[in-house]
Amino acid sequence: MQEVRYAYMLPHQFIARREEFPVLYFPLGPLEWHGPHLAPGMDTLNAEAVAIGLANRLGGVVYPALYMGSERYRSPEFMEMLCLDPDKHANNLGMDFSAGEVVPSVYFMEDVFAIVLREHLRKLMEHKYKVILIISGHGAESHMEIIRRVADEFNRFYPQTTVLTRMAIAAGPDDNGIGHANKLETSLLMHIAPDSADVSQLPDLPERLRTADTAIVDPETFCGNNPDNFVIHDPRNATVEYGRESLERAIDILSNTVLKALRR
Ligand SMILES: [Zn+2]
Repeated sequence: MQEVRYAYMLPHQFIARREEFPVLYFPLGPLEWHGPHLAPGMDTLNAEAVAIGLANRLGGVVYPALYMGSERYRSPEFMEMLCLDPDKHANNLGMDFSAGEVVPSVYFMEDVFAIVLREHLRKLMEHKYKVILIISGHGAESHMEIIRRVADEFNRFYPQTTVLTRMAIAAGPDDNGIGHANKLETSLLMHIAPDSADVSQLPDLPERLRTADTAIVDPETFCGNNPDNFVIHDPRNATVEYGRESLERAIDILSNTVLKALRR
């Protein structure tokens, strides 16, 4: 298979791939606490796997993954939804909560993240791509808003390149949306990096898991529709096969996005 990763390519290979298919994929996400059963690279490893899948399928070049992303402190209402003790967790950023020890996520301040992302894009404008697809493995609203705002600046002033922003992850028929460290993400990492997911770090079935104890958050919980706080889409039911299907689903969706943008 041809090399698709920018950092590993010789200039003539890079130029040939760009001439053939002028799209750059830019995967990013924070190093983030995903409970005791997943490695902190989860979001970004997934974004990079999607980027490589797209480049292999369609063409184009994969920019090195940027391990950077942002989060905010939780509102009292949100902490209530997750059944978190507001006194204990008031100063925990994003997903950094658990009954046991948390390895704190490496979230960047929003302004720093925006500056770094802008600087990458500013230089990449000289590379003459028609489309730059930013693929985020992390979906926090504030984080996505920063990417969209920076992308919008470039789309206004550099009309020769379209900068698009998309999530790396697509919910399947059983998921009801995107959660955090639940069955969907666990399946994805089991497929992408098998040694980086280990559900034996969680209590054994049939004991039920609580979001507040594990940082496993279902889409229902994010939306306030899970008042008893037990995990619904249990990571202990994750499978490599579901991970493979879910990765392909994301690549299918984003393939259409890229092809549509190139036709513009
Ligand atoms: Zn994640």
